[in-house]
Amino acid sequence: MPAMHCRSVFGHAAASFEDVRASVGVPRTASVRQMADLYVREVVFDEPIVTSDGVALGGHHRVTIQRDGRYRYQGHFRATGFPSFDVAILTTVGYTIPIPGVPTPAAAQVAFAAQGRVHGTNEAGDREHTWDTEGVAPLLAAEWQGVRRGQLNRHLEFDTDWFGPAGDVVGFLAQVVALGATFGAAGVAIVIVGEAADLLDVEQIVLPGIVGVVFAGGAAYVLGPSALIPGFIVGAAVTAALITQRPIFPHEEAFAIEVFGPTLPFDRIRLTNLVGFGDRPFTAPGPGGVILVNLGKGFDNPTTYSGKGGDEEGLSAPGQLFIHELTHAWQIANESFTPEYYCRAVATSTGTLGGDMSTYGYGPAGPSWGSFGTEQQGSIVDQWFAGSTDPDERSQQQRPYRAKDDDEQGAAQNPYYRYIRDNIRARVA
Ligand SMILES: [Zn+2]
Repeated sequence: MPAMHCRSVFGHAAASFEDVRASVGVPRTASVRQMADLYVREVVFDEPIVTSDGVALGGHHRVTIQRDGRYRYQGHFRATGFPSFDVAILTTVGYTIPIPGVPTPAAAQVAFAAQGRVHGTNEAGDREHTWDTEGVAPLLAAEWQGVRRGQLNRHLEFDTDWFGPAGDVVGFLAQVVALGATFGAAGVAIVIVGEAADLLDVEQIVLPGIVGVVFAGGAAYVLGPSALIPGFIVGAAVTAALITQRPIFPHEEAFAIEVFGPTLPFDRIRLTNLVGFGDRPFTAPGPGGVILVNLGKGFDNPTTYSGKGGDEEGLSAPGQLFIHELTHAWQIANESFTPEYYCRAVATSTGTLGGDMSTYGYGPAGPSWGSFGTEQQGSIVDQWFAGSTDPDERSQQQRPYRAKDDDEQGAAQNPYYRYIRDNIRARVA
């Protein structure tokens, strides 16, 4: 793209390429093309609905997604001949999720649905049924780089009671997963938006005694913010019987208070032994205000566990993963959380991060707390907690300092301590 210059892409307000680069947090090697890519704000998927076998039914569906997570789902069905139809459509935008250190990408499907009756010439009534719904799903913003390269899929049913009177959630999920299988990917995350969410009766498949986890079609899903995030068990096929959940114990609260002070809503926190894509732990807000902290193999003894979700230990300081995930719980409690399908700052072993540190690194102390991303904040806190005892190579920036280095410890005060004192413990997001 030799003819493309900084000003023609970003306008005359762009003082220099370097300023723009710095403002969007792209590493120094960014090309003009990479920079322009970041400024794509909207993607539109648009397709006619064509039926086969001479069925007198047609239509159109269109999905618009913006990088801030806003979406719009529009379309119509039309009866084109004698018969009338009850029609239901499932539209998905599918995209893959590359996971560092995992050979096969995972997949996600953003699911939309609409249904209605169109009348043929056999009876009175509208020949057309139209829909137009809008909303916001935070995961779409978090997953924008994948979403914008997604592909449109659809599943159309007519003259069947597809959703059922109360919402056949198992059948619905099976259809979404089937559409996702076109990627050949391991696991499908499902973001359910608009009417599709209303059509589901997730109460049907909630596991007894386990909050915020549903089980359908042989897979477990954590009920995140308008999304079903697949949950896995390390080293085993997931079954309902293997999923364990519990409240946080008093000695674990005391452990957490050493970092967070009294700012965590312990009564809302549930620990589980599930992990997300790539056997990575993750934390997600669930129904009724519950905060699901999914720790994998760190579930039994989170304050002494030194792994990253799997069987291998000695990869981080004891309790470091727990502190990292609790930072996400803090973000959820303070409404500064961006949902993810797995914890990007937590690799299953050292070395799997490759050369790409951009989403994990956070640079020198100084910028405002709110200018750091969800995972960067998690890393700042867990590495402040771990100090030089953290064996993970990504902890270079706080390595010279003692664990929990603070005002009381003298001259070597860790410059990142300000975020613990002025943001975490002060509840300033
Ligand atoms: Zn994280």
